Amino acid sequence: MLTNKAAVVTGSTSGIGLAIARGLASHGADIVLNGFGNAREIEKLRVNIELEFDVKAHYLNVDLSTPEGARSLISQATDVLGAVDILVNNAGIQHTDPTESFPVERWDAVIALNLSAVFHTTAAALPKMQEKGWGRIINIASAHGLVASEHKAAYVAAKHGVVGLSKVVALENAGNGITCNAICPGWVRTPLVEAQIVALAKGSEVDIETAAKMLLSEKQPSLQFVTPEQIAGAAVFMCTEAADQMTGTSLSLDGGWTAR
Ligand code: NAD
Repeated sequence: MLTNKAAVVTGSTSGIGLAIARGLASHGADIVLNGFGNAREIEKLRVNIELEFDVKAHYLNVDLSTPEGARSLISQATDVLGAVDILVNNAGIQHTDPTESFPVERWDAVIALNLSAVFHTTAAALPKMQEKGWGRIINIASAHGLVASEHKAAYVAAKHGVVGLSKVVALENAGNGITCNAICPGWVRTPLVEAQIVALAKGSEVDIETAAKMLLSEKQPSLQFVTPEQIAGAAVFMCTEAADQMTGTSLSLDGGWTAR
């Protein structure tokens, strides 16, 4: 289905991004992986994608937290893959603190990666998509792109921004064969969330699995984690013809979180 398509997935060395990269590759797309981590482990992930799915997979070690970095990921990806047909903006970080004591440096870092990088990669990728008349931009926002929680000022502001930015890009490119949508996951048990579970376990003096259940029961009515593979399934769907008219929307996979 995605043979001859080239996909860049930011933050794809772990968690949701890795599952999306593998999901797109399983349908034939060539892949650029991006993100941080142990070089040998990343190389293993890259080679596994090539061997398992018979596609090309490259890894670009680019820090997206500066405008130059984010834009250069797209130019480097275009060099190695020949195009960027599918852009999945997934890289993200978290920091929790009350607003009055939220460190300025953490605010800047979360906004730079979770929001500004999405703008920069999108702006850099659009002209070639417009020339081709086909493109998919998929932004991994969050339930926190639709509703808020305490102590997440930067994250909630950034993710609401991503939902808004997705709508603007959708409108500007409507009818051009380019769609732009956001996916809004609830809790997915990745390293990003594991850190929050560990902090909750410490703060509440309970074991890790009890803390994981506490985290779910506060927000996610299904009391089950969303899996990275389920997010990947939604991203793959957004690349199919069935989703040609799906643009400017946000798709929640949150076990009922935002239905309340
Ligand atoms: P993760 O920590 O497992 O993965 C984050 C990825 O981003 C990693 O590959 C990391 O190396 C990369 N990254 C971090 N800083 C980077 C930088 N400066 N430049 C380039 N790459 C960088 O996290 P995850 O849970 O898989 O999160 C992926 C996305 O999903 C994030 O945008 C997150 O906000 C969103 N999300 C996660 C959940 C959840 O419950 N896990 C819920 C909703 C939304």
